Amino acid sequence: MRLSSEAFALRLRRAGLLIDTGVAGVFAGGSGFEAIVSGIDRAVSALGAGQQIEVVRFGPTMNRSDFERSGYLHNFPHLSATLFGFAGDQGAHRDLIDRLEHDGEWTARLMATDLVATPAACYPVYPMLARRGVLPDAGTVLDVASYCFRNEPSDDVTRWRTFRMHEFVFVGEPEAAVAFRTGWLARAEHMLESLQLPVSIVPANDPFFGRAAPLLRQQQLDDVLKLEAVIPVHTSNDGTACASFNLHRDHFCRVWGLSVRPGVIAHSACVGFGLERLALALLAEHGLSVSSWPSGVRELLLL
Ligand code: AMP
Ligand code: ZN
Repeated sequence: MRLSSEAFALRLRRAGLLIDTGVAGVFAGGSGFEAIVSGIDRAVSALGAGQQIEVVRFGPTMNRSDFERSGYLHNFPHLSATLFGFAGDQGAHRDLIDRLEHDGEWTARLMATDLVATPAACYPVYPMLARRGVLPDAGTVLDVASYCFRNEPSDDVTRWRTFRMHEFVFVGEPEAAVAFRTGWLARAEHMLESLQLPVSIVPANDPFFGRAAPLLRQQQLDDVLKLEAVIPVHTSNDGTACASFNLHRDHFCRVWGLSVRPGVIAHSACVGFGLERLALALLAEHGLSVSSWPSGVRELLLL
């Protein structure tokens, strides 16, 4: 039986699976939770085994100028976060400490660094490929993962601000990008069914910001650019998106000048798995005690 988000969160905390950090949407995982996350991460990696896929692991931050060029601030400013640091002299330091100890407004003394928090694991891929130069003829597929950050504080136990995303990304011919998504959708659906999760694949849209948002959301839905694997985790929403299957058309490749042939801009597509959300979906479906999960699920996750 599914619980409300609040009741589910309470049970997860009591079981030591999730640990509060005192801020909304940021949790630490206890050892039981982390074992599930590692199992999912491995199972996701295994989906790409035996294929020509380059594995790259990024940190939780990315180059700020790459981020600026990506267009994220135009579409999702409300989710973005920039890293600030102290770069002053001794006088500025005294001022910083004074503010810290008096009005608490010390952050006003910081300067933006050349880093931002990575919003999705695939964002650093396109500038990386652009720096490398020519794409292989058959296009390229990467397996990437990182901590991601989206500034969306929430009481929903499935909506985190700092979370891990594991993605497969394709860059190449336009038709091949569509075929990539179709193939990976089938592969992911098969994995989620093997994990005995009640999954629905539904068209979705990204949470665009501002006046153009309704139009952009509708366009994404009409053109079926985003599909999500939605799983019921708690009763406080209609289901939680645990993976997404995205066609970007030429958006990133145009920005980064990635061509398949002279004069032909490449297309990209990505398939992203949310590791914490999948762990929560498994805990909601099979219970908080992993030792009583179905044996097939435990074998698949090496638990
Ligand atoms: P998206 O780029 O929004 O399609 O995200 C890819 C996947 O990352 C989603 O399907 C989720 O599984 C996961 N994800 C996105 N946002 C969050 C969040 N706020 N908290 C936890 N997981 C998330
Ligand atoms: Zn992506």
